[in-house]
Amino acid sequence: MTMVRLSELLGQPAASTFLRGVVAGGRYANAYLLHGPAGVGKGTAALAFARALLCERRGGVPAGAGLFAAAPLPDGPDDDACGACATCARTATLQHPDLRFLFPVSGEEKDLDTTVAETQQALREDPLYVFRYDKAASIRLSLTRELLRELTYRPYEAARRVVVVRDADRMREDQYSALLKSIEEPGASTVWVLTTARLARLPATIPSRCQKVRFAPLPEPLIVEFLGARLGIAAREARLLAALSGGSLARALVLREGQPLQERDQALALLQPALRGDAAGLWKAVQGFTKFGRAGRETLRRMIELHQLWLRDLLRAGADAPREQLVNRDREKEIREQAARVTPAEVRRRLMVLEEILRSIEGNVTPELAMFSGLTRVAGARLAEGEWPRHPAARWDY
Ligand SMILES: [Zn+2]
Repeated sequence: MTMVRLSELLGQPAASTFLRGVVAGGRYANAYLLHGPAGVGKGTAALAFARALLCERRGGVPAGAGLFAAAPLPDGPDDDACGACATCARTATLQHPDLRFLFPVSGEEKDLDTTVAETQQALREDPLYVFRYDKAASIRLSLTRELLRELTYRPYEAARRVVVVRDADRMREDQYSALLKSIEEPGASTVWVLTTARLARLPATIPSRCQKVRFAPLPEPLIVEFLGARLGIAAREARLLAALSGGSLARALVLREGQPLQERDQALALLQPALRGDAAGLWKAVQGFTKFGRAGRETLRRMIELHQLWLRDLLRAGADAPREQLVNRDREKEIREQAARVTPAEVRRRLMVLEEILRSIEGNVTPELAMFSGLTRVAGARLAEGEWPRHPAARWDY
């Protein structure tokens, strides 16, 4: 397993500098809260910070531990984990007793041990493992209880214990009170490192007691480069993934499991019946995506986003932007041709319609209906009343 170190965090210079400064200074607050959008490296940073803090070179071993004093420590940076000492070897595989790692899980309580062990194993095997939660996933009460009991004892080996809580916004009220009590305890030997992508969901008392570290969305070119260099993803696919990711590497990785190029072509093809004024054809095409329930809704949302990227390319091409600025540059010829045929005002009008469709899908409007009327409007077609789908009530089928 190659666990990332603080100096290797992707695209978070401010957070990385701050956390390394803390490590170099060697004075720790009782709690840190790493916050920012999902999938930008907060969890990775939290574990990297924990490792740096526990590293033997950083004083992870109690000062004056006579037995060890004579053993020479490996060389390493002053502001990061050395990656070479015995402690670093164990923190890298999450097998150090003074590094505790809590994360939300779903499923039955009787399977909890297995679920946790499997997730940790997956993370060990793949540093790019993406945590995915269903709605009910939470940081289990039984695990925090066990941990809180443990906190009443001294750390096992290191001078302090680090507890990393991933997505700390998925806890219950009484867990927060217990957490607060521990954070506020003077002279505590525990350092809490919490992460959240939903700061507003934490009780206000938590952020106010933590040292906050902000994480930013990742720049698109950085994601493109990373996907190419680390995963060998072809540039045209990587560009599309990065553009859809909204600055979240995790989202890019998840989207990669679909086939983004194929999906884009499908999305653009959806517009064809609308352009022909073929209402029945459009309705049929749109419905094809919704039979998969929630996943279908997600797909429709992505289709709209793919359309948006295409239209933004039209705007860029209309302004004579060079090829390098087009996301869909593998279809540059079509983009240039289409851009020559529509005015920027018309492209903006279509973008606004797409925005409206997205909002409707977020709300309670039936996605295929929103998509149908939206694409009709994007195509500029005016369908007569009789041409609308006969039984819109059929939309409740899924
Ligand atoms: Zn070390």
